[in-house]
Amino acid sequence: MRTSEIHRRWLDFFAKKQHEVVPSASLVSSDPSILFTIAGMVPFIPYIVGTEKAPYARAVSVQKCIRTNDIENVGRTTRHGTFFQMAGNFSFGDYFKKGAIDFSWELLTGAQDEGGYGLDPERLWITLWEEDQESFDHLVEVIGFPAERIVRLPWEESCWDTGQPGPAGSTGEWHYDRGPEFGPDAPHGVLPEWPGSPEAEDRYIEIWNLVFDQFLRGEGKGKDYPLLGELDQKSIDTGLGVERLAYILQGRNNMYEIDQVFPVIEKAQELSGRVYGADDEDDVRLRVVADHVRSALMLVADGVKPGNEGRGYVLRRLIRRAVRSMRLLGYDDPSMPALLPVSKDVMKESYSQLESDFSRISDVVYAEEEAFRRTLASGTTIFDQLAGGVREQGGRSIAGEDAFRLHDTFGFPIDLTLEMAQEVGLSVDEEGFRSAMSEQRERARADAAAKKTGHTDTALYNRILGQRGEAVPFLGYTESSVAT
Ligand code: ATP
Ligand code: MG
Ligand code: MG
Ligand code: MG
Repeated sequence: MRTSEIHRRWLDFFAKKQHEVVPSASLVSSDPSILFTIAGMVPFIPYIVGTEKAPYARAVSVQKCIRTNDIENVGRTTRHGTFFQMAGNFSFGDYFKKGAIDFSWELLTGAQDEGGYGLDPERLWITLWEEDQESFDHLVEVIGFPAERIVRLPWEESCWDTGQPGPAGSTGEWHYDRGPEFGPDAPHGVLPEWPGSPEAEDRYIEIWNLVFDQFLRGEGKGKDYPLLGELDQKSIDTGLGVERLAYILQGRNNMYEIDQVFPVIEKAQELSGRVYGADDEDDVRLRVVADHVRSALMLVADGVKPGNEGRGYVLRRLIRRAVRSMRLLGYDDPSMPALLPVSKDVMKESYSQLESDFSRISDVVYAEEEAFRRTLASGTTIFDQLAGGVREQGGRSIAGEDAFRLHDTFGFPIDLTLEMAQEVGLSVDEEGFRSAMSEQRERARADAAAKKTGHTDTALYNRILGQRGEAVPFLGYTESSVAT
């Protein structure tokens, strides 16, 4: 089943169940405090927390999402993309747990020739909050779901909340068992004892998260807060990973091999001459390329421009990582003009505006690749000399001032230096980098202040400005990657 068909069936199924079909919101939220739309519920937050009354009791959407906190997982797990589509159904004070469970069961296991996804019920597992007896009984007594494939978890491992006093709820997560060739059997009822075991998580794939938004929670740190009572308006908020279902239904090994992503891997193979499946590290690079090219396409389509901060920096980093991965695969020519159109051609089945907007989108992406190629051309030799020097002296770490010089003079963001160092088995003194960075900021600030009062030597000021060149503000691994 094609990914666009999974998308269409989702909307059709819930439309027939009286849900209002709501188009995907932009990846760029109107709320500047949210970097990107990270889940299907984001556009519905006011209805869920109760600050606005929902104009409909039931809604359905397939939401475009970006999760930068999954960037390190891309290509290494089977199931994490920086861009993905989250299909969701929502109830605002209308149906609750039983209704949500019934819909999910009907759609997942319903026959394909009757509009369902046709998953084998024997392969499904579900997690629940241990005190959610209502859902447990409904599954066992009404649906006939076997109790040994229901995993009961403490609140901390199964709850949803906003991180502050307000609505909270327990969740149910449908998992799909890909079979013994992907890992050992889970003992009855204990599936997610295993976060941290990637093999186990790759056998039992989380596909659909149901949130039963039921309680009012009080003050407390982390998950340690009292439940003060039930909400007046209970809500249902769910999210299914379209790409995850696609790779299961398409019989592929991971989400990068589905119809909407794999053609980019094929093109990258053709360009680089590397063969997918022949080498683990090359495979990761090929998947990273396909993932990041698609994310860049979708981000630029939604109006993001490459830049040195916030959203623009995330986009810049995605494009740069894709370009670098192609170089590590042995392909040094510009690669975006070959790869981006392939991604557009497969994604336009679901997002037709990609075609009409493609000349604008491609201009942005190609220009960014060119700019990055210039940066690389000027800095790579210096980096290699630095790394060579460190090694000659038997060192293991690139000095903070050197990393700073690469940044300051050649526009190498620290992320790039870290990645390149890692590839040659070195670390970087990040602490030293940061202090060199803040010293420079201090100097610039002092100079600017002096200039305001008219006591500065403007020649010195200009020299510092000139040195700073195209300096990239330090966002660091954490801040830029945990941007969600
Ligand atoms: P996981 O534990 O596998 O990282 P999650 O619990 O973080 O997933 P949710 O926040 O519950 O994911 O999102 C709802 C659904 O969206 C998930 O059940 C999954 O199918 C899908 N999903 C989440 N993150 C990604 C991603 N990075 N790429 C593809 N699909 C995703
Ligand atoms: Mg996750
Ligand atoms: Mg999870
Ligand atoms: Mg989840």
